[in-house]
Amino acid sequence: MHYLDHAATTPVPEEVARAMVSVLTEQFGNPSAQYELGRQAKLLVDQSRSTIARALDCRPDQVVFTSCGTEGDNWAIRAALHQNRRVGKHIVTTAVEHSAVLQCVKQLEQEGYAATYVKPDRSGRISADQIAAALREDTALVSVMLVNNETGAVFPVAEIAALLKDRPALLHTDAVQGFMKIPFTAKSLGADYITLSAHKIGGPKGIGALYIGGRAKNTMPLLFGGGQENGLRPGTEATAQVAGFAKAVELRMARREEIFARLAACRDYAREKLSAIPDLQFIGPADAPHILSVSLPGYPSQNIVTELSGKSVYISAGSACHRGKASHVLVAMGLERKTAAGTVRISFGPETAFEDIDALAEALLEHRNTRFPML
Ligand code: PLP
Repeated sequence: MHYLDHAATTPVPEEVARAMVSVLTEQFGNPSAQYELGRQAKLLVDQSRSTIARALDCRPDQVVFTSCGTEGDNWAIRAALHQNRRVGKHIVTTAVEHSAVLQCVKQLEQEGYAATYVKPDRSGRISADQIAAALREDTALVSVMLVNNETGAVFPVAEIAALLKDRPALLHTDAVQGFMKIPFTAKSLGADYITLSAHKIGGPKGIGALYIGGRAKNTMPLLFGGGQENGLRPGTEATAQVAGFAKAVELRMARREEIFARLAACRDYAREKLSAIPDLQFIGPADAPHILSVSLPGYPSQNIVTELSGKSVYISAGSACHRGKASHVLVAMGLERKTAAGTVRISFGPETAFEDIDALAEALLEHRNTRFPML
């Protein structure tokens, strides 16, 4: 198998699975329980929180576990708007956010908010000046992702934070594709909310975290119930997932520099190999080391993905969340229909070998040479 879809999800290393099994079968207590087994579970959640906090270089009480990146995005957006309810009802975001942000903002428009969607240039990048130009007196929230999940473009979150220093608008960044892929800390980004998700970095699915810091205060919970997570995120803690998330972070932190270099080496090797394929175009800037988008204009991406999967080469047509639909990211970048419809995303992880990329290049070339363009 040649798995080249790490931006969709990642394999869970043995150590992570073992940590989770041990929690499920031995340290299975409810962290709210008074007895020893419960206390152990509480300790485990607190230690795991400290691990995530170390990775962000923030205080543990600024990290709250969520059920996924989608929840973190929705919560941050609603919490910021609640805090800034007297500032106004205007949101600035980008046209290329993940649907966890875009659909939440679209829902808020139905509820009476106004939104400005900043568009990227043809390369997929967005500048802080564009965000500045979109700000209004009544802007309560700016939500800009750190790394785009389809093109690997890195957005200037720290510059945007500097822009908002003397303004009331709060800043949220969806860092799901940036965490452990590009170096940053909570302070270096300067955002008030930072969304993370475990399954993009070798952790299990169904667990994420939200950093709540900076100027965020009196955070409104998204759900109401028990007093878990300091009353901010009720629901019995997903202890096994939490432990798996922390173990995945620990493993990646220990080899952080080596992994950054490995991912970049894979991207550069793939660029070199794929540039030999006639007509193939590189899409987007691939600033982040783990994502490379390419197009075979005229060859529908769904067909490419299906044919490659028959050869056990796994890549995706744009974002895995948009199966069958034209990618809103590529549309916002202004790509021609033929080019957008022929775009596939290749993404790397620490486990990726150059042989996986060789297999991909071979399969793509064969597709190009044996199929007729249809679009
Ligand atoms: N944000 C980005 C940029 C993503 O790539 C994803 C997952 O694809 C999410 C949010 C959603 O994360 P989760 O799958 O944990 O809900």
